[in-house]
This record gives sequence, structure tokens and C-alpha cells, in this order.
Amino acid sequence: MKKRLSTMLLTVLSLTTLALTTSACSKDTAPEKPATSSVKKTKPSFNYDKKIAAEFVEATSNDQATFIVDGKKVPVKFIGIYSPSLTQDQPLSKEANQKVNELLKNADDIQLQFDKSYGHQIKDGAYSAYVWLGNELLQTKMLASGLAILSGHTLTNSKLAQSLETASTQAKKSNAGAWAFDGYVDGATFNVTAYQAYQKNQELINAAEQAIKNAEANPTRDTLNQANAAYEAIPVDKRPSAHQKRIAQVNTAVETKEAQERQAQEAARKAEEERKKAEEAARLEQQRLAEQQAAQQQQNQQMVWIAPQSGRRYHFDPTCRGLRRANSTVQMTLQEAQAQGYTHCGYE
Ligand SMILES: [Zn+2]
Repeated sequence: MKKRLSTMLLTVLSLTTLALTTSACSKDTAPEKPATSSVKKTKPSFNYDKKIAAEFVEATSNDQATFIVDGKKVPVKFIGIYSPSLTQDQPLSKEANQKVNELLKNADDIQLQFDKSYGHQIKDGAYSAYVWLGNELLQTKMLASGLAILSGHTLTNSKLAQSLETASTQAKKSNAGAWAFDGYVDGATFNVTAYQAYQKNQELINAAEQAIKNAEANPTRDTLNQANAAYEAIPVDKRPSAHQKRIAQVNTAVETKEAQERQAQEAARKAEEERKKAEEAARLEQQRLAEQQAAQQQQNQQMVWIAPQSGRRYHFDPTCRGLRRANSTVQMTLQEAQAQGYTHCGYE
């Protein structure tokens, strides 16, 4: 009830303002004559600290909306700020539009305030005003979100101009909204080319990030080369230093792994060599034993002569002088002779 009363009061005040505005307007557009200038002198100067109640109708762009003031629909530009253009479909224009609508639709106490630099009359088809949402400005809220930037226009109200500056500086510092896209905010305008370049670089950075993650999870020469190629696709001045460090780590891991693999291969080669050597030695030993056995066999089968009644010697040669005095000789195998305790003749 109290609120309604105050709104009514404001409306009455605003009506007075509008009446003043209208009369001032007709005077301003009229050619300057000495007669009218004398009337101007008697007119009280406009109070730029005054706030005028307004009702939100619709946002016609991201920088302008229609309000009802004193029962009349009036177009109002948001003084001091500039948002991405919705008609040009500039990046973040949809977000800015959503924010403007949300702020204005949810505000239950909207007031307009003029700035002397822009005047209190319609210029270029619209009023220019600070838009109060309760005790905060729509302008500072938009600037703080980074969905609007300072328009670069000079404002007379230094206190409000300062609060706009502060909101903008904060947004820039925290990379909010448009500030997140390196180069998109270009002075008092938006640079779509810079935004696109930023997005392209971002895609390249993301691709490199993915390739590096892959190489970290599976460090091989191939994945390392892929990570390197993805990293080098990023323009030199946009390459994240963290990427370089991570690639260097993967490189170390790959080199360590390759060195270990080489050592393992060398060890396997040596082991195989040893195995072949041992196999050859075993084969030779077996051959030697077989030959020895064959020789032994042959030797055992060899026939010798013994003289059973004279001596305990065996002789390979039946004409050996050790047998000259023997009465009789017997032929037997060397094995048999040895088994019977015969030993080799000393003359042979
Ligand atoms: Zn003999």
C-alpha cells in the first residue's frame, strides 16, 4: 500500500518532469530568437539528480528498452554501456539479451535518471538514461557480468560514471563474459574477428590438451609425436607453457621406456647367444662322448695276445718280443684280458 502510494507520488513528479521536458523540447527545436531566449532564462534548470519512475515494457536491443513513463511508452538507451549486437548476432549477444530481460523483468522498482552530457530529451529516437533497479544500476550489473562494456561516452555524473568504471574493471579482472575472450573487447567495441581467432586457438589448445592427456596415459613415440604436432599447431604466442612441460615429461617417459626396451632386447639377444653357445657346447660334448665311447668300444673289441703260462701282460702285436719265449699264446679281446688282470706289455 505504502509502495503504491510512493509510486503514485513519483508518477505525479514524473508527469511534471515530462511536461517540463516536452516544453523544453519544443523550445530547443524552435529557431533561436531573442524572444524565446528570454523565456529560457526564467525556466528552472533541469535536476539531473532526479529519478523518474518507469515500468519495463520490452528490450528492443541489448542497449535499449521501452518503458512506460507517465503512461507513455518511451524508448530509452542505457547510458554509458554497450553490449554485443543481437541483430548482428555478435558473440554473447543472446546472453546479454537474456540478462537485460531478466534484470528488467525481475525488477520491481525501476527508475530512470538522466545525465547532463546526453540531456533529458529524446535524441536519435530515444532517451538516454541510467536505469535504476532498486538501488543498483542496470548498467553496473551488465558491466559486472561482462555482457556489456563501457561505451566510451563522457558522462557528467562523475559518481555514477565512477561506479560504471569500477564494475567494468572488476569484470575485466575476473575475465567475466566478453572479457574471457582475449581481444573480443576492443576499446569501446567488440572485435568479432579477434573473438573467432580466440575460439580457433581455443579449439587448437583443447585438441593439444587431449593429445597430451592421451600421451600421458599411454606414453609411446607415436602418442608423443601426436601431442607434439597438436601443440605446434597452436600459434606460438598462444601455446600454454604447461603443455610444453607436460610434453617434456612424456618425452622423458618415452625415452626411458625406449632405453629399457633396448636393454631388454640386448639382454634377450645375449641370453639367446648364451643359449646357442651352451647348446653347441652340449652338442660337442655329446659328440666327444660318443666318439670316446666308440673308441673305447673299438678298443675293447680289439684282439690281444696273452701267454697264459708266462707273464701277466697282453700284447697287441703277436710278434712282440715279450712273447718270444712263450710256450703258447691265446688270443682274446682286450676287455677280456683286462678283466682277467692282464696289463699292457711294456715293449709296445
Ligand atoms: Zn708285447
